[in-house]
Amino acid sequence: MISTEDPDVLTALRTMQAKALSMRNEPITARKKRLRTLKRWILDNQSELERAAAADLGKPAIEFISIEIFNVLEEIRTILKNLNHWASPVYVPPSFAVLGTYSEIRYEPKGLCLVIAPWNFPFLLAVGPMASALGAGNAVVVKPSELAPTMSACIAKMASACFSPDEVRVVEGGLEVSKQLLTFPFDHIFFTGSPAVGSIVMSEAARNLTPVTLELGGKSPCVVTSSARVDEAALRIAVSKFTNAGQTCIAPDYVLAEDKVYDRLVDRIVFHARKLFSNPSTYTRIVSDRHFTRLVDLLQACRQEGVVAVLDGPAEARDRLFSPVVLKNVSVDSAIMRDEIFGPILPVIRFHDLAEAESIVNHQPRALALYIFSDARRETESLMASTSSGAVCINDCAMHFFHSGLPFGGVGRSGFGRAHGHAGFVTFSNEKSVIRQRHGLTGASLLYPPHTARKQRLLTKFMALFYR
Ligand code: NAD
Repeated sequence: MISTEDPDVLTALRTMQAKALSMRNEPITARKKRLRTLKRWILDNQSELERAAAADLGKPAIEFISIEIFNVLEEIRTILKNLNHWASPVYVPPSFAVLGTYSEIRYEPKGLCLVIAPWNFPFLLAVGPMASALGAGNAVVVKPSELAPTMSACIAKMASACFSPDEVRVVEGGLEVSKQLLTFPFDHIFFTGSPAVGSIVMSEAARNLTPVTLELGGKSPCVVTSSARVDEAALRIAVSKFTNAGQTCIAPDYVLAEDKVYDRLVDRIVFHARKLFSNPSTYTRIVSDRHFTRLVDLLQACRQEGVVAVLDGPAEARDRLFSPVVLKNVSVDSAIMRDEIFGPILPVIRFHDLAEAESIVNHQPRALALYIFSDARRETESLMASTSSGAVCINDCAMHFFHSGLPFGGVGRSGFGRAHGHAGFVTFSNEKSVIRQRHGLTGASLLYPPHTARKQRLLTKFMALFYR
């Protein structure tokens, strides 16, 4: 375990702080070089990463490559392509009070940043933010999840192969390690995880007034109206819900289906889930016994309420296999509607009109994403206007995550701050406002004391004219 009271650890973190200071003066090419080294290591060691994902979560290689490796490589590519532009000062024309001045926004590195990652996409959610932080010119400490120990070790190995220990340091361990790290005055903390731990991270960060980005979870709703293409909706819902065994922050947590399409939608989701996810050798496992038991108990509570499971495959505690479950005729008051499910159980709730669906969505804390399957613009616009979420994806689920040009993040209890692409660069940068004054007479000097009645009259007249 590390401890920030341990003089060696403190010295290491202080050395990183000093390095971060010197990294401010590096040319952009130095940042790019780091990212290229990282990219090369990933490509050269892909099979080792695949094995780590399989060892921790039983992830099929194709799923790991297409979601985790692909997104990290795409993030790095986007940064490399745009970094010169992003890091350039942005000219800001003068406003009236400062006519004659020259102003710009400069993007400087924040300094030493901490990235705390979860276990569900253990490579992507540790290395993606790390790449953004490096692109913005920072030194980074990464704390991967202890629940994906093989991947955590792999990320540590990657960091020592690619970077000097004062540029990037991976600190492995669980909650105690995380708590210890949080006592150190980092310049930014980027946390991905549950809302409960997010609130602990935020209060710890407050002690040092460290800014935080919180990428949290929650119950992302998926609304299917009668104008939707039902079979296509069912296929896309099944894929995004049951991939990674439902352990995805942006998986649809529950489905709201309009009366007219309710039965057909449920049938088609069951059909696609059976077809795509019934081979245990290509299906991700639940991460830990604790999470497995949590899901078994949740399902048991639903059964006691009389909820019908129309798809209910095998669940084997021995290797934490939890097959897809689809629940029909679920009430909004059901136990399953209390917390984020974060597993392969999909409740489908019936609604009669759009106002009812909007009210159900608004009854829950604001979500990371809202999914709408509808071919009627009136419906999509109404749902978007009357609800709030970090993102909206129409006629599919989770696709906004894959668009490196779209800022990614939550709102309210699903988190705040933004990641990916340019938004990630800005998150890890200090936007420094710079204004250069002219010599001699300036707008401000006209109002220097002495405060005469004439100056006051002129100012009053000017404002009456200008702000009329
Ligand atoms: P978690 O909050 O339990 O753990 C996340 C990290 O925090 C881990 O590295 C863990 O070691 C550390 N940690 C745990 N307790 C801590 C404490 N008391 N103090 C400091 N650090 C602590 O989350 P998880 O179980 O790893 O991941 C699942 C959650 O993450 C879900 O809620 C999911 O929706 C969310 N999530 C969000 C996103 C996103 O991008 N918004 C992505 C993936 C997962």
